Amino acid sequence: MKAIKQLILKPLLLPGFPALLKYVQRDCATIFMLHRFNDPQRGVSGCDALHLRRTLAYLASKGYEMVSLMELFDRLGGSGRQARGAVAFTIDDGYVDQATIAAPVFSEFGCPVTTFVSTGFVDGKLWFWWDQVEYIFRHATRKSARLHVGAAELSCQWESDKERDRAQDAFIATCKLVSEANKSEAIARLAQILGVSIPAAPPPHCAPMSWEQVRQCEEMGMTFAPHTVTHPVLSRSGEDMAEREIAESWAHLRSKTRNAVPIFSYPHGELDDFGDREIAILRRLGFLGAVTGEPGYANARSFKGTDEYRFKVQRFGFPDGLPHVIQYVSGIERFKQMFRGNT
Ligand SMILES: [Zn+2]
Repeated sequence: MKAIKQLILKPLLLPGFPALLKYVQRDCATIFMLHRFNDPQRGVSGCDALHLRRTLAYLASKGYEMVSLMELFDRLGGSGRQARGAVAFTIDDGYVDQATIAAPVFSEFGCPVTTFVSTGFVDGKLWFWWDQVEYIFRHATRKSARLHVGAAELSCQWESDKERDRAQDAFIATCKLVSEANKSEAIARLAQILGVSIPAAPPPHCAPMSWEQVRQCEEMGMTFAPHTVTHPVLSRSGEDMAEREIAESWAHLRSKTRNAVPIFSYPHGELDDFGDREIAILRRLGFLGAVTGEPGYANARSFKGTDEYRFKVQRFGFPDGLPHVIQYVSGIERFKQMFRGNT
């Protein structure tokens, strides 16, 4: 760990290098994307509150501007102060640990954070399909399965937990490639084959925050934005469904919160998980833009250069160690990108 830290941070000690980094960062901001937070009581593992606290303390001590996503979009669009090196935090999905573990830490540092919630999940009407798949594999009464996922035939067997996890990952990856209907069928069939009955309500480690907790988080400074109703892969959904998922989650969120943020986060978030159709729907509904799960900086030049970029703004997954956080926010990663010719 020490060696990695030294390797990453050594360039910062070279004369003139910090100034160079500031220069390469002039048009860029870092948006971090978080999901789960360590909560041993509920059996959740994810980002540790201590790591988050240390990171926020570091950023504050080094004078980084920690801005809300809304303010960052304003800056990227050219109004107000520049984006230069600013940092924004986002959280996806609406799990309970995001309210109980993350919100108090962000509040402690007065750091803005925007949480994208799937409204059907917070309503308690569903639990996420990948959590259901994990539940099925963990509670399987046999150690092999053979079934169709859409047109693909999937065959898996396992002895160890590691092999089981690999089978689970392969099943989830295949589910992302098929239609919503085919995915639901495949999950139901998997449960049947493995002798598991899926409970209507999620187990504690997969539970959502409640609307009451959403309001408490708002009091602590967290803002909320839509992430569909049921978290489908939008590009694998019909047009009516895609429109409904976006519009209903936006309307419901606005009725439940004080200051819903008109910025969207695409479920699953890779470039082939959404397309021009979704961008057109978002424009029609008056959204200012959208974020993806594709790794990269939020770039002011691209923001001003094409009208479409604001609906494809990239984020970095929040790294485990502080040295890696520093690599992103200081601009070392940006420098490496430019060096590789990836501007
Ligand atoms: Zn999500």
